[in-house]
Amino acid sequence: MSNTIKDKSVLITGASKGIGKGIARIFANHGAQVAVVARHMESAEECAAEIRNSGWNAKAFVGDVSDRTSMMNLAQEVAQTFGGIDVLCANAGIFPSASLEEMTGDHWDQVINTNARGTLFALQACLPYLKSAHYGRVIITSSITGPVTGYAGWSHYGASKAAQLGFMRSAALELAHYNITINAVMPGNILTEGLQGLGNDYLERMASSIPLKRLGSVEDIAHAALFLASKEAGFITGQTLIVDGGQTIPENVEAMGSLTTC
Ligand code: NAP
Repeated sequence: MSNTIKDKSVLITGASKGIGKGIARIFANHGAQVAVVARHMESAEECAAEIRNSGWNAKAFVGDVSDRTSMMNLAQEVAQTFGGIDVLCANAGIFPSASLEEMTGDHWDQVINTNARGTLFALQACLPYLKSAHYGRVIITSSITGPVTGYAGWSHYGASKAAQLGFMRSAALELAHYNITINAVMPGNILTEGLQGLGNDYLERMASSIPLKRLGSVEDIAHAALFLASKEAGFITGQTLIVDGGQTIPENVEAMGSLTTC
């Protein structure tokens, strides 16, 4: 794959840590100008400074995807700084847990407003710039949770992640008029700073249910996003790419089998 992301302006929401930070580092490493977006400037700047210290190009910006005005102002600021926006990685997301019995309307709204409505607001804000870029790529970070699998305590989260995909398919048809593609990466269990705190026993148990016997890395997701942002992926739109080490394949634990080598 040629390096077609070089010098492109890439806005990544939720880029101060976790998967978004991984995407920011990989895109910057490939020569992109990266806008690291989060609600808190301090952690966004920490991430951007880390990237610049590696000799790459990044700048921190404050933006809240659940707030339309905030996203409009942010996109304008990023476009002015980098001379446009070619790629949007709509990655910001939250995952507080709540059982069905304890879930309030506020719990539901908070998750849906950030994960699903936030994807709309990020795209709306970047759209004028993506249109004039004549390249336009949008990559959504969805999840296997919701579209493919379930997880007790995360029914609102699962709904928000499935909503992103429903949104994407209709958006793909509108965006095609401007030669803009929109696709989604669906991560399985990814080892982020948040998961690291849960301890080795827990992480090993999680990894044992994955055919490739490890949790995903943020780079695994970032490379999938990089491919979807490339020139070579220009005929792919409205599609999903599961990156989960095979986690969603087995019908049950027995189906994983145990192969002996001869
Ligand atoms: P994370 O480590 O908790 O990081 C979340 C990022 O989003 C932070 O930079 C946070 O910074 C930002 N953020 C949160 N709310 C925001 C808002 N309203 N506006 C702008 N930025 C916001 O999360 P992660 O685990 O990397 O997850 C990233 C995405 O991957 C999410 O969409 C998640 O659903 C998806 N995903 C993750 C996994 C996994 O295993 N980790 C699996 C499947 C899917 P601030 O707090 O400063 O805003």
